[in-house]
Amino acid sequence: MIVASAGTTDVGIIDPLDAIADLAENYNLWFHVDAAYGGAFLLAALENEDGSTTKDQFKGIERSDSVTIDPHKGFFLPYGLGALVVKDINTLYKTNSFKANYLQDTYNAVEPSPSDLSPELSKHFRGLRLWLPLQLLGEAPFKAALEEKILLTRYFYQAVQQIGFQVGPYPELSICTYRYVPEDQDANEFNHLLAQKLREDGRFFVSTTNIASVNWLRLAVVSFRTHLTEIDAYLQFLKQLIDELAPVTIQEH
Ligand SMILES: *Cc1c(COP(=O)(O)O)cnc(C)c1O
Repeated sequence: MIVASAGTTDVGIIDPLDAIADLAENYNLWFHVDAAYGGAFLLAALENEDGSTTKDQFKGIERSDSVTIDPHKGFFLPYGLGALVVKDINTLYKTNSFKANYLQDTYNAVEPSPSDLSPELSKHFRGLRLWLPLQLLGEAPFKAALEEKILLTRYFYQAVQQIGFQVGPYPELSICTYRYVPEDQDANEFNHLLAQKLREDGRFFVSTTNIASVNWLRLAVVSFRTHLTEIDAYLQFLKQLIDELAPVTIQEH
């Protein structure tokens, strides 16, 4: 099988799914896409700088055999709501169904029981947590919130550079990596210290990552409560920390 990512946890980048689908097809392999974080963003209909759309980034996902999607991430719903979507129901049935004497009354059901399609026999009605909000609110507020999160990340990507930070790749979804490189201190240690100061303050939860031995801070906008006010307050605090911890020395002539 081939497993591709549609929104990596670390930096939110989407693999070239269409090209990978070609490979899977050529070699007759099961094609799985991990869209746990990214999948919900298929609802967003924003235009990118090059004229493509958010949806174009996912091209090829429709050719996969299975997709992981976490409504407890991109749909902002309660935890414990992870989903696996499989194209061919028979493969699920063959993998998970079993017979037992005490189950004989269930054999003539008109449609497969959920217990024949997943590992659990007795199970929670988890789907209700996704079905009900969609019934009550429809798709629109989810779409609007997801588009807002992408726009906030793009805004942050520009704004954080204006206060002197380096950035990683242009954000494809709602994650942006950034770091400050001070004049006369070790950059990895400095960004580690920044993250520590941010956590001590307690208003913002910021995580870090290490890519090829380089420490980066991660902005991951995944809460429905994060709006422009919060991003601006965060930028202001970052600027304040930089002024305190890495004052730029003005050369006197
Ligand atoms: C979060 C995440 C997972 C794990 O999902 P959980 O629901 O936290 O178990 C898997 N893959 C990706 C890409 C993720 O972002």
